[in-house]
Amino acid sequence: MTACIFCKIIEGSIPSATIYEDEHVLAFMDIMPVTKGHVLLIPKKHHENVYELTEEESSRLFSVVPKIANALKDEFKPAGMNLLQNNGASAGQAVFHFHLHFIPRYDETDGFQPTFITQEWESSAERIQEIAAGIRVKLKN
Ligand code: 5GP
Ligand code: ZN
Repeated sequence: MTACIFCKIIEGSIPSATIYEDEHVLAFMDIMPVTKGHVLLIPKKHHENVYELTEEESSRLFSVVPKIANALKDEFKPAGMNLLQNNGASAGQAVFHFHLHFIPRYDETDGFQPTFITQEWESSAERIQEIAAGIRVKLKN
């Protein structure tokens, strides 16, 4: 028997409020919503994080993203929506089965506060080109 809480949800051995299911993916309500309509989308095959997803599984998963986002938009009429996906405990991952958060946003007082603070020492044009060059090498490997 699996120890993974999301695999248990897929098996049906613990309950969830499912909103969408097909052969490859499951979407259900987050048990501790950070805003109204907070949904999680997962692959049915257990993968801990984004590094483990195959291109095919990732395509299948992301192919349903606009459908789910539009259903949330139609139902709740949010002002905006964040898609969020954490990999590793230091990135905030608490459940180690890949999941994509859909977080509808209402206004600046909805309580969810993702912040982007520019790291000044990383933001010169030269430094950005240097960083990009390193990543391009890895993508060619
Ligand atoms: P993470 O921090 O790993 O990106 O997010 C994990 C999410 O899973 C959290 O938002 C948490 O509320 C949700 N979660 C944890 N356990 C359960 C559960 O048993 N059922 C559901 N529906 N969501 C869960
Ligand atoms: Zn799992």
